[in-house]
Amino acid sequence: MCNRNPIECFVPPYITERLAESPDPEIRRRAIANLASAAAVRAVREISQAMPTLMASMSPSREKHRLVYDAGGTDVLPGKLVRSEGQAKTADRAANEAYAFSGDTYNYFAKVFQRSSLDDKGMSLISSVHAAEADGTALDNAFWNGSQMAYGDGDGTVFRRFTRSLEVVGHELTHGVESFTSNLAYHGQSGALNEHFADVFGILIRQWKRGEKAATASWVIGAAVLVPAPTRRGIRDMEEPGTAFTNDPHLGTDPQPAHISKIYSGSRDRGGVHINSGIPNRAFALAAKSLKGKAWDVAGRIWYNAMLALNEASQFLDCAKATVEAARTHGPAAKKAVAAAWKKVGITV
Ligand SMILES: [Zn+2]
Repeated sequence: MCNRNPIECFVPPYITERLAESPDPEIRRRAIANLASAAAVRAVREISQAMPTLMASMSPSREKHRLVYDAGGTDVLPGKLVRSEGQAKTADRAANEAYAFSGDTYNYFAKVFQRSSLDDKGMSLISSVHAAEADGTALDNAFWNGSQMAYGDGDGTVFRRFTRSLEVVGHELTHGVESFTSNLAYHGQSGALNEHFADVFGILIRQWKRGEKAATASWVIGAAVLVPAPTRRGIRDMEEPGTAFTNDPHLGTDPQPAHISKIYSGSRDRGGVHINSGIPNRAFALAAKSLKGKAWDVAGRIWYNAMLALNEASQFLDCAKATVEAARTHGPAAKKAVAAAWKKVGITV
């Protein structure tokens, strides 16, 4: 479903395609249903039809305003409202996770960047849990459809429910922030930068929430949405791209390059948006570690300012230049550290 639509899905198409060749017939069936379905097309139509209602529920102020819906194992979004801002927990763990983690994402952008929600105007954070295909097949994915978040429950063999991971929620909502800022076009290098910033702020939100230092924090994205197995540690590893999963019977091997010399230049995955993001991801992780302390303190601010400075056509070199430029306000050592990190992935400013 994520191959054919301009929708930012968390699980890249190369993983879903690989799942369609899984030795497990049930995993295979689900992946084929996920690939073949036009669920996202319908989801977009439903959401656009529902927009007047959603617009009416926009937050009246710049304060945090969350709405969590239950799609009830269908592809009709948003579904039934189950928890809104200030209401007590429900009996549904997925709904409570979507509520809590979208709140953490709001708090991070508000406290660190004085940004009021995705649009900086207090836009409501809308989530649908238990999103599925039209035939009820569980969704092995989470996505931002331009207006809201939707989370699948996973197949239970490879993927678990997608609300389990704070950085997955942060990643998807950052796609929303990007749509109101740089709006990087979702193909080729600009698309890989779009994916990159979603990973950067997804991981920063998690490290910020846990109070972790860059030197000791994990840089693995999506561990909590995978059923544990020795062949998989996550969906992506920002510090060591290409090592998140290896010879996994269902997922295959992580295809992310860690250096510009290995950049993927084919047409799959919209020209490698989830593949080539490994290159800037590694530059960010290296810069954050080199700058020491907590990654959101300096590296996060540099990358946020760079995201605001870029535009929809920006390429890797533009991003490298923008971060080096943004680093100047943190002193010559910071500027040097950021330039050195890009150089390690083969991009010289
Ligand atoms: Zn994404």
